[in-house]
Amino acid sequence: MKRREFMGRIWVAGAFAGAGTGVSAHPGMKPSPQQTGGSGGVFIERAVAGKPHAGKVLAAVQPHTDDIPLFAGGTVAKLINEGYTGYLIRATNDEKAGPGTTGETVLSNERDNESVAKALGLAKIFNLNYRNHRMDDLSRQEMRARLIFLIRLLKVDTIISYDPWGHYEENPDHYVTAQVLESACWMAGMNKDYPEHLEAGLKPHAVREKYYFARGPQLINRVVDISTTIDQKVDANVANKTQGPGGENGARLKARLSAQNLKLSILGDNDDLANRQYIKHFVLDLDSQRLRGVRSDRELGREHGVDYAEAFHYVAPYPVDFNMEEYVRKNATPL
Ligand SMILES: [Zn+2]
Repeated sequence: MKRREFMGRIWVAGAFAGAGTGVSAHPGMKPSPQQTGGSGGVFIERAVAGKPHAGKVLAAVQPHTDDIPLFAGGTVAKLINEGYTGYLIRATNDEKAGPGTTGETVLSNERDNESVAKALGLAKIFNLNYRNHRMDDLSRQEMRARLIFLIRLLKVDTIISYDPWGHYEENPDHYVTAQVLESACWMAGMNKDYPEHLEAGLKPHAVREKYYFARGPQLINRVVDISTTIDQKVDANVANKTQGPGGENGARLKARLSAQNLKLSILGDNDDLANRQYIKHFVLDLDSQRLRGVRSDRELGREHGVDYAEAFHYVAPYPVDFNMEEYVRKNATPL
């Protein structure tokens, strides 16, 4: 069994066997509130009409140009459609993934990343351009400082990225980005970290809300219904022509079959449709475990009563149901 398939099965067992039911995946063990999201189940985040997130800012932070499209493209598009202003931060230069020389690979991935941002409705891109597959060699302090600057500059409320505590993640770019980002999220709210930012006019600003995805076992407490944005997710994966399982692989399969006088009706009659259909039905569904290392969006959706879904460990904004000043006003008595 391939490692990804094996890990995918563990992930399914660990994260979903008890989803929504309060039933543990391990007989005899009662799931803790943390394991089930605090309310005995997984919260289903559905599409909301209007622009409830108007005025809020999100940052989709990915090491490589195909990460957000593959694992969170539907959620990012949904949040932007619901009013968020979104930014795309890419940590590496993607120099190791794609055909051609190193320089050609860097350039074509940079262009793909621009198409990804466009497909998802992201307003601007920040390329940090650390060297691909070498992020475990960088200064985390330096990267953290750059992320803190961006969080303060953009006033980021919400991030979408890899789970910094995702187990068995084998790509150092993934876990280094996630871990440095998580520390930057709260440190950006401190007034003694990088005080020169404050002199330059920025203010301390902590990120309070996080959507973390992972390829391995993960505590899942939120499933986002992406039925309204599945086609935008497909677009974002078509955009990755240089690397990843999407891009123009549908047209390539269609051409290969055609040379053998064969066709798959699911791919349709033209290359553009073949690319889109291949991603929707193979990358995100039937062959998802092998091609992405996670289970099918469609299968996950069905399990929760929707057409397509993405799974996250969600970190909520700090609770605001307790007001210390109000408590003092009501309860303080004279000495
Ligand atoms: Zn990646």
